[in-house]
Amino acid sequence: MNLKLLVRECVQRATPYKSAREEFSGTAKMYLDANENAFGSATSQPLSRYPDPKATALREKLARLYGVLPESIIAGNGSDEIIQLLVSVFCEPRQDSIAIMPPTFGMYAVIAESHGVAVRAVPTKEDFTLPESLLEDVRGAKLLFLCSPNNPTGNCYSLETVAQLARNFSGLLVLDEAYIEFSQYPSACQLLTDMPNLFVLRTLSKAWGLAGVRFGCGIGNPEVIEYLQRVKLPYNVNALTQAAASEAVDRQDFLVETIEQVKHERNSFASALESLAVVERVYPSEGNFLLVKVCDADAAYSYLLSQGIVVRSQSKQIHCENCLRITVGTAEENTAVVRALKEMS
Ligand SMILES: *Cc1c(COP(=O)(O)O)cnc(C)c1O
Repeated sequence: MNLKLLVRECVQRATPYKSAREEFSGTAKMYLDANENAFGSATSQPLSRYPDPKATALREKLARLYGVLPESIIAGNGSDEIIQLLVSVFCEPRQDSIAIMPPTFGMYAVIAESHGVAVRAVPTKEDFTLPESLLEDVRGAKLLFLCSPNNPTGNCYSLETVAQLARNFSGLLVLDEAYIEFSQYPSACQLLTDMPNLFVLRTLSKAWGLAGVRFGCGIGNPEVIEYLQRVKLPYNVNALTQAAASEAVDRQDFLVETIEQVKHERNSFASALESLAVVERVYPSEGNFLLVKVCDADAAYSYLLSQGIVVRSQSKQIHCENCLRITVGTAEENTAVVRALKEMS
């Protein structure tokens, strides 16, 4: 497979911008190359210097965490930024398309559309598995977005499914693993060495509890990573974020405990919801949320809101009529949701 042929011509031709911090790398007595403030910063923290544009130290830590090489990773201002970079690198406006399998995460379509890139929506089957005709339906698309565990449905796709898709798709298969830590399924990072057109998205926003920090990364073929580096803004991951992310990934204990708590609460929350008259179905979930089918999603949404509880309606997504997506909260929060829905009926 020739990855270069998938890349937009303007990106193939582009020479990457070299920031001051990239042009010189090493140690020096004084840094007078970047027009930083030599007299310090207006905060108590030492923030007067530009951050490392490639987040090298952090990427080395993440490489160990994910079992890949540092040159297979690009750091981003959330994984949302990586989605945007992928569209910028691969999709020529008004010419190329991406493919998505709804019901799924809304950002893929939003980013493509705002870049003038067409979206081909190939719905999953009613049980959220992939249609047999998928490869035929997405032929010619530059990017195929697969989310596993899928938001909002909570189901996963097996490594065999992912591998089979990657092998037979002629574009880049982008696998969004935002919720993989909560799942019993393994990450597809182990497939990357054999599959040059597979690309995995990971984030610190969910299991690591750092949504406010904005850090996510893309993991894939170093050739793809190099193209993404070309189009990203030089200092896309700020110094505070790099420091917080680096500190967080040393806290494996936090991760393990979070996963355990979420899985435990997910189970009891799901059983409590299932026993309610207004609940028609709770879908099995591999994420930190539940997709819940109720009798009347608008009514349930409004009632929960009147009780000070905000959830997300998924009613407008295909196969999700009258469904709410509810994040697994603390035991107290989940109990409050159950109590409110019980009062309602
Ligand atoms: C939450 C979420 C993300 C995370 O995005 P960040 O920009 O890293 O916060 C990515 N994909 C899906 C499907 C999500 O639900």
